[in-house]
Amino acid sequence: MKLFDLSGRVAIVTGGNGGIGLGMAEGLAAAGATVVVAGRQKDKNAAAVAKIEKLGGKASAVEVDVTNEKSVDAMFAAAAKQHGRVDILVNNAGINIRKQPEDYTLDEWRQVIDINLTGAFLCSQRAHPYMKKAGGGKIINIGSMMSIFGASFTTPYASSKGGIVQMGRAFANAWAKDNIQINAILPGWIDTDLTRNARAQVQGLHERVLARTPAARWGNPEDFAGIAVFLASPASDFVTGTAIPVDGGYSVNG
Ligand code: NDP
Repeated sequence: MKLFDLSGRVAIVTGGNGGIGLGMAEGLAAAGATVVVAGRQKDKNAAAVAKIEKLGGKASAVEVDVTNEKSVDAMFAAAAKQHGRVDILVNNAGINIRKQPEDYTLDEWRQVIDINLTGAFLCSQRAHPYMKKAGGGKIINIGSMMSIFGASFTTPYASSKGGIVQMGRAFANAWAKDNIQINAILPGWIDTDLTRNARAQVQGLHERVLARTPAARWGNPEDFAGIAVFLASPASDFVTGTAIPVDGGYSVNG
């Protein structure tokens, strides 16, 4: 058996057009999967596909808003029509709105929960029949250090990231009988658009992260290629319902 071979597999990566999502998409494509890059921005999706193809991988793009039921249905229909199957789903689309708990509007709370948690619920639920039909599947949920900790400026974000891990465990329990494994990755501090805003807003954040991270560096999107391949491949067939930090040791540095 080729443990890490994804040839013939089709993987949808939400938010796959940049940051951590693109790092994982590149890894999955390098392992042989055909990757469907799914984000709201058409141009960014197309650029990500071009990058993956330039590296020798197979990819296509679909515009999706993970909070919209019709849009998610259309994403799965397009992937199945174009590639014949869906084996792997990476629920990576996510946003953060940084405020103190007392300052969030209900709309801001809903925005974060809708994209980070409800979007992952919707995509997982709609992936199920396709994976069942394929004889099994893999769902990879992207949590956060905020799945474990609760920084004060992340109330809806931490709620969504705790929720995505528990939601994945419930799905893992229910769908083991269908040979579908569901696991979460918990990134530490990674250099992407999401954290570039935080770094601009919070003085000293960059240095504080370096000091707290045993690996003494920020993570890069490329750091997620290997773990994505592991959790998408036969190498992890008996691994389900877990949450794996990929954080340079940040979460073990009490
Ligand atoms: P980016 O901002 O670079 O990427 C976020 C992605 O999500 C974009 O590709 C964006 O594409 C997509 N997206 C946002 N909203 C939607 C939506 N409604 N429907 C579909 N796609 C959407 O951030 P990161 O790469 O850093 O984040 C990726 C994931 O990793 C997120 O879930 C984030 O919470 C998590 N994470 C990141 C950490 C970090 O340090 N960077 C730490 C811990 C977790 P588009 O705008 O085209 O829709």
